[in-house]
Amino acid sequence: EELVFSGVQPTGNLHLGNYLGAISRFVTMQENYSCIYCVVDLHAITVPQDPRLLKDQIREVTAAFIAAGIDPKKNIVFNQSQVPQHAELAWVFNCVARMGWLSRMTQFKEKAGKDRENASVGLFAYPTLMAADILVYRATHVPVGDDQKQHLELSRDIAQKFNNDWAEMIAELGHGAEYFPQPEPLIQGPATRIMSLRDGTKKMSKSDPSDYSRINLTDNADTIAQKVRKAKTDPEPLPGALEGLEGRPEADNLVGIFAALRDMPRQSVLDEFGGAQFSTFKGALVDLAVETLAPIAGEMRRLTADPGHIDAILADGAGRAEAIASKTMNDVRDILGFVRRP
Ligand code: ATP
Ligand code: MG
Repeated sequence: EELVFSGVQPTGNLHLGNYLGAISRFVTMQENYSCIYCVVDLHAITVPQDPRLLKDQIREVTAAFIAAGIDPKKNIVFNQSQVPQHAELAWVFNCVARMGWLSRMTQFKEKAGKDRENASVGLFAYPTLMAADILVYRATHVPVGDDQKQHLELSRDIAQKFNNDWAEMIAELGHGAEYFPQPEPLIQGPATRIMSLRDGTKKMSKSDPSDYSRINLTDNADTIAQKVRKAKTDPEPLPGALEGLEGRPEADNLVGIFAALRDMPRQSVLDEFGGAQFSTFKGALVDLAVETLAPIAGEMRRLTADPGHIDAILADGAGRAEAIASKTMNDVRDILGFVRRP
């Protein structure tokens, strides 16, 4: 059976990259799949978080999911820490994954920076928790941005090693040849990697200290206009063909954002704006971004004004998620040979 899982961290400012690369695709997927969408708060604490802000950030991501069009009745929407089986299975996966596998993860290298001695063990083990998030539901499809591709490959390696290492018990207990599926990454479309507005070689991130590096979902029209106007570009006008974007990462990024917002190929954007100055193109981009984001921001404001309602949605989702996850964990205990409560 096909099942979609994906998550977003409550680490601060949701941005256009999160929307185009992840959340807007979650909305599309609910038409054809059963979907589980998680606010991954356990992942958020791999770097320091202010506990006085974290609750609001969790509610804000939940509100963004719903404002973008995710139906929490049709799908499961919840926050990770309410379902303890994520952390439990992650421990098992910490014992399956190899140090060498995790040492190769580029996200850890980037987020730990130079001071690796001071990075949390959790930041290093981030991908094993992500594998547990997906596999505790035995999910088969994972829509994410391009930056998560390497972590997804690791999830597949973990599933495979688990299936191999316990193959005999898995068969003996009647699960067939493999217990965990190999989750498929769904990384497609025009917006798998939206770049920073300040540096076309860095991805747009919630955790970038510069607010001018990203367009936040909750930015108003004036702020969006200011950020786009200040976005780094080069002095050349827009090219008429895609080859003309080579070696121009900032121009390429703005054209990519425009294409994704309009849901059209990048060449069509160049057909329309080839030869134009950036000042003209940026004006059109601002209008388009405001058109897309303003209704979502408005709905987010309405939803976050009633935290009780959001918490009820999360509790309902957590209950339904735990029903699936606890079954998996019981199977895993049996496979591993633990004595468990009958
Ligand atoms: P942080 O900097 O805290 O890691 P983030 O911006 O990377 O924040 P996440 O919560 O880690 O956001 O990721 C949520 C989803 O958004 C993931 O599927 C991720 O692949 C996707 N995503 C994040 N940044 C981008 C981007 N710049 N372009 C496209 N997709 C992105
Ligand atoms: Mg991230």
